[in-house]
Amino acid sequence: MEIKIYNTLTHKEEEFIPIDKKEIKIYSCGPTVYSYAHIGNFRTYVFVDNLRRMFKYNGFNLKHVMNITDVGHLTSDADTGEDKMEKAAKKEGKNPYEIADFYTKAFMEDMKKLNIDMPNIISKATDNIPEMLEMVKEIMKNGYAYETSKGIYFDVSKLEKYPVLSNNKVEGQEAGARIDVDEEKKNPYDFAIWIKAPENHIMKWDSPWGKSYPGWHLECSAMGKKFLGTHFDIHTGGIDHVPIHHENEIAQSKGANGEIPANYWMHCEFLLVDGGKMSKSLGNIYTLKDLKDKGIEPLAYKLFCFTSHYRNKLNFTFEGVKASQKALDRLREGYAKHLEGKENIDNNILEEYENRFHKAINDDLNMPLAMGIVWEVVKINTKSEKIAKLIEKFDEVMGLDLKNYKKYLKHNENNEIKDLPEEIQKIVEQRKKAREEKNWSKSDELRDKLKEKGYLVKDMPDGMKLEEIK
Ligand code: AMP
Ligand code: ZN
Repeated sequence: MEIKIYNTLTHKEEEFIPIDKKEIKIYSCGPTVYSYAHIGNFRTYVFVDNLRRMFKYNGFNLKHVMNITDVGHLTSDADTGEDKMEKAAKKEGKNPYEIADFYTKAFMEDMKKLNIDMPNIISKATDNIPEMLEMVKEIMKNGYAYETSKGIYFDVSKLEKYPVLSNNKVEGQEAGARIDVDEEKKNPYDFAIWIKAPENHIMKWDSPWGKSYPGWHLECSAMGKKFLGTHFDIHTGGIDHVPIHHENEIAQSKGANGEIPANYWMHCEFLLVDGGKMSKSLGNIYTLKDLKDKGIEPLAYKLFCFTSHYRNKLNFTFEGVKASQKALDRLREGYAKHLEGKENIDNNILEEYENRFHKAINDDLNMPLAMGIVWEVVKINTKSEKIAKLIEKFDEVMGLDLKNYKKYLKHNENNEIKDLPEEIQKIVEQRKKAREEKNWSKSDELRDKLKEKGYLVKDMPDGMKLEEIK
């Protein structure tokens, strides 16, 4: 079946034609590991997971690479400010390698919780310094870069066209509109590919230009080339990568190898919070742990991501994600009922559903449409194991681990809630203490508080039991 994907490079939906039918080569920009990844970041990785799974559903093998940025990403994407890793290290009283290690592990654990199908190769920027340095030399040799007192800069005026992905007009724009004015730069849009390290900078390497470190964009050009070659199928990232990071990656690859590295460039739109940007100052940056503390599973967040097409903005609200948690519970219940079903259903009916689902995912990953079909199947009145098997097949793309649904059930065999949110657990402890102290009014007050939060308290002879109010 034909696969269509939207290509940022051509600004349109195109038929996907692989370079090599046997194996699709994908490069995905990975996280900058200076703090916990937030749910906005994970929207982009859920999209990449979907993309992998869609190709596998269509029978393709993949060679998929993702980088871990552990050096060179400055506080502004356009090469100004401090290195994010060094800044975090100072704040936490650790060295940047310890910071990278800690947050890489946290990132991987969260990816696992989201049941994300992992790229075949995950590689750290700091493990690819020789390749990056080699690329700087090639770019210099080909006449696309020059040295300043701060480092080696890419000269965008040497390119036939810059930018190529975004519609930004470079000419006529004020220098400093997007980047700080730097007298030594030949053009305002020139960017650092290699940065001379100040004396106190920890992450630095020997180079023909003294102790220095790579610019953020360079790692993706160098690692794409190292693992996938100079020309591969797909490059992915979040929408914010279009105007700077990916433009600059393309520029570098053209400077070194003379070509745009990927045929298709795919970008995931932003997750908004309450209709606005996620930002530290607004205190609305949420992690998977923040959701868990409110009783929301990572997989419910994944299901929430499917409520919007990846190229549309998605507005995060707690009401919205709570609705997705309920939907996930219902999906598991529906699947379990079909699994035990003994009735029969016509294969042609199931084939038609499968066909519609397949068409939806092949149409630029239309997950909202695909989910509509999943729900139609779940709600079929006939209870049949064949239906459960079809849902399992759909789950190859959804990645909700439905087969192992029992693992996620909230109650144990004694019908007790297995994993209470942290906030609720705290109130339960306070109420236990109040009862031990025979402080009945406090105990009643806390019981009402739990009710407000959606939990009914039952005081049994063997202790307190909680029931979720549906
Ligand atoms: P970073 O760790 O900052 O390099 O970002 C990791 C990935 O998350 C990148 O692909 C970003 O484009 C993406 N990203 C950052 N913020 C959001 C957001 N609010 N919604 C969706 N993707 C995002
Ligand atoms: Zn990148």
